[in-house]
Amino acid sequence: MIQYALVTKQDELSKKIAQEIKDGLKEIANYNQEKPDLVISVGGDGTMLTSVHQYLNQDVGYIGVHTGTLGFYTDYLKDEIDELIMAIKNNQYKINHRNLLEVSVYRHGKKDTYLALNEMRIDYGFVTQVINVYIDDELLEVFRGNGLCVSTPSGSTAYNKSIGGAVIYPGTPLMQLTEVAPIQHNAYRSLGASMILDANRVIKLESNHFKCVSMGIDNLHFDFSDVEKIEIRIATKTVNFIEYRSMSFIQRIRRAFICE
Ligand code: NAP
Ligand code: MN
Repeated sequence: MIQYALVTKQDELSKKIAQEIKDGLKEIANYNQEKPDLVISVGGDGTMLTSVHQYLNQDVGYIGVHTGTLGFYTDYLKDEIDELIMAIKNNQYKINHRNLLEVSVYRHGKKDTYLALNEMRIDYGFVTQVINVYIDDELLEVFRGNGLCVSTPSGSTAYNKSIGGAVIYPGTPLMQLTEVAPIQHNAYRSLGASMILDANRVIKLESNHFKCVSMGIDNLHFDFSDVEKIEIRIATKTVNFIEYRSMSFIQRIRRAFICE
């Protein structure tokens, strides 16, 4: 029997939909919060980010139900629960491997590693951030501005898009470095465009401002002191999204951003 868990956004509608799923799966699957094969996220894309971080150390497949409008990580809508139950029962699916970023934070002579599904970002608007940006140990620029964002293809439609980055068609392991409010004038200049890099590259960030740094990883937020450097690369680990039915990426983009 399939072992499944639910991660539910804590609003009334999502809780109601989660109960509907539990009832529908009664004969088909076993609820197992600790060791599931399938994690069903009920809420929004943000709920899926929570789900992925919760089960990051286990080998699970993810499927999402959106209780609002269609999302990028959520394939089913709240009125399609019967269809989802049937799909789980039929157990026919494709696996969609999504890339993660590996973010290494060096401080006090040791390294802490974080994984990101959408992006990592350093973003602080009250004092200009001065950040030396290296690609494979070669200096690219001394960036001045609010901050920097490095996103995955999955994350390209999230924060990255809001700050003018490109949307990346899924399927290729790439990472995108995008500037947040760069200062561009006679004295200070940075690239002023997003840079897209492959899995062989490493982005290294160093700064005198890293005595105290705020870093966002997906829906999580960390405050660090005395950071020596931050390295970002495409992780070897991927996360498995279950596709019981496929929707083209272009259709998803159209529904989310261009028209109903
Ligand atoms: P949130 O503040 O609810 O997220 C902001 C919006 O981003 C929500 O509408 C969320 O969808 C959507 N979103 C998340 N991942 C996405 C993806 N891969 N593609 C397209 N849209 C996506 O916070 P949250 O729900 O915890 O999500 C955290 C993420 O929000 C961060 O990783 C960051 O990318 C994004 N974010 C964006 C901005 C911005 O655009 N200015 C600011 C803060 C955070 P749902 O409503 O379905 O959750
Ligand atoms: Mn959200």
